Amino acid sequence: MSYVGPDFDPPQPRRSRRRPLLVALAALVPGALLGWAVYAAVGAPGDAGGAAVSAPGSPSASASAPDDGKKPTAGTTPTAGTAPAASPSPGRSRATARGPLAGRVVVIDPGHNPGNFRHTAAINRQVDIGTNRKECDTTGTSTNSGYTEARFTLDVAHRLRDLLQRQGATVKLTQDGDRPYGPCVDERARIGNTAHADAVVSIHADGSAAGNRGFHVILPEAVHAGAADTRPIVGPSEDLGARIAGNFVRVTGSAPSNYVGDGTGLVTRKDLGGLNLSTVPKVFIECGNMRDSKDAALLTSGAWRQKAAQGISEGIVSFLRG
Ligand code: ZN
Repeated sequence: MSYVGPDFDPPQPRRSRRRPLLVALAALVPGALLGWAVYAAVGAPGDAGGAAVSAPGSPSASASAPDDGKKPTAGTTPTAGTAPAASPSPGRSRATARGPLAGRVVVIDPGHNPGNFRHTAAINRQVDIGTNRKECDTTGTSTNSGYTEARFTLDVAHRLRDLLQRQGATVKLTQDGDRPYGPCVDERARIGNTAHADAVVSIHADGSAAGNRGFHVILPEAVHAGAADTRPIVGPSEDLGARIAGNFVRVTGSAPSNYVGDGTGLVTRKDLGGLNLSTVPKVFIECGNMRDSKDAALLTSGAWRQKAAQGISEGIVSFLRG
């Protein structure tokens, strides 16, 4: 989600005290178990470096700032287009409205907005996230060649929406490139809450240092302050996140992050408004590191993004079907 720069004080990703539980949860999920087992046996396809699962255990592990990235600065506006992908055919959606997820509501939150670069004052406005105040939204990161995180998140969101609709789910996006900027993080949370979503996934890609690779899923930490009370959603969100992580490994072949999460692909945080203010099960996923050339090659591939969406979808389906 972010750059790490002198203008940004990266949060310290908290070492999860629930790691054994999370690993156990993942192991209880057939898809997740298969995913982790396959990964352990053959490594990550396309990962020429291999051995990316090893836990870093070094201070540099906290150098990642997996969210709410770089404050916008003049002259950084990318030339990326903003056209969203084509919508699925209405006929297909109707035909499968009675699928296994009929009646279930999934909210997809594509991180950032392609227009945020042009609305710096608006997205820098402080909003209340319960524990403290924070910027409304951020620009997100990009690959070194200028493929923006906001384009990436919208593309994966469209692919994920199509997959879930084929299962009969009712799917809502928090934004679809159809508004000038935002929404702010508090509104992103509110959209999931108001929809009474059964699951919410916020899609991102990270902006960490080159050499830092792999995906991680961010889970809400228990917070109870101001308008934030995540205590009721911590458990189900852990379940959702573990299932997404396991299926993401299995479908994409990507390794869990080699720089946060101790090789589990799971990180717990309390500094994200989108999680703090959620009253429904919700996780973030950082699909890879846009600033690493090998990860960037995956993130810029439509075929890989389809696999990413498939992995996330199968994790959600597993969670919703129990
Ligand atoms: Zn992001």
